Amino acid sequence: ALEVREVHKRFGRGGAAVDVLGGVSFAVEEGEFVSLIGPSGSGKSTLFQLIGGLEQPHKGEIRIGGQVTTGQRGHIAYMPQQASLLPWLTVAGNVELALEVAGTAREEARELTGSWLARVGLESYAGEYPHVLSGGMQQRVSFLRALLTPRSLMCLDEPFGALDALTRMQMQQWLLKLWEANRRSVLFVTHSIEEALLLSDRIVVLSASPAVVIRELRVPFERPRSETLWTDPEFNRLK
Ligand code: ATP
Ligand code: MG
Repeated sequence: ALEVREVHKRFGRGGAAVDVLGGVSFAVEEGEFVSLIGPSGSGKSTLFQLIGGLEQPHKGEIRIGGQVTTGQRGHIAYMPQQASLLPWLTVAGNVELALEVAGTAREEARELTGSWLARVGLESYAGEYPHVLSGGMQQRVSFLRALLTPRSLMCLDEPFGALDALTRMQMQQWLLKLWEANRRSVLFVTHSIEEALLLSDRIVVLSASPAVVIRELRVPFERPRSETLWTDPEFNRLK
């Protein structure tokens, strides 16, 4: 699904230049769930911006579905580390827009938005503007927008970092449930080894910058089925 080959990225020029990525190579297979871990500042978010086509690498190549996409946008479902909701649209408007971009007709998008927001526990915030929401709430809307973007590769940059423990567990379960149902490829950044072990097939470890891949681990046990993570029947009713 994704091949990252010898990717280098430098910010700044001359003496002030910083080499952030020093030749990163790894792959995500079709339908695989891969977690990316590494020290703060090692360039994980930078790598996501390159994969999403928001920044250009200096050297190296990124392939998605076999095609070189280096520098091209729109190939992935991307959830940035900083929730980037459109501030001039309400919470519902942000979700509706994602649905419309995904090809849902406007009327239908309007009808579906409430039930999607309910799944992340935010139905009562539909009419609010993003700045009214807490960081964790914005993160859930941003997560929803990524889930609704119909791309075979989903890149999630610390999607649950700002969530309380209970909500985080619910979102993990929901993500696993969706992944079990449609097996999109996932690249997932987290600072939690537990979360990486819980959710992923494989873990890719980056060094400090200039980052390279220092280790790739296959998770050595079966992933728990999503039902076993969290057993609130009310939550399980939601598919
Ligand atoms: P964290 O785990 O804290 O989120 P990260 O691994 O995601 O860290 P990045 O955000 O990718 O790290 O940053 C890597 C380095 O690149 C940092 O030193 C940062 O200052 C630098 N950097 C990122 N974007 C830019 C930019 N647009 N201009 C200059 N430097 C940048
Ligand atoms: Mg980051």
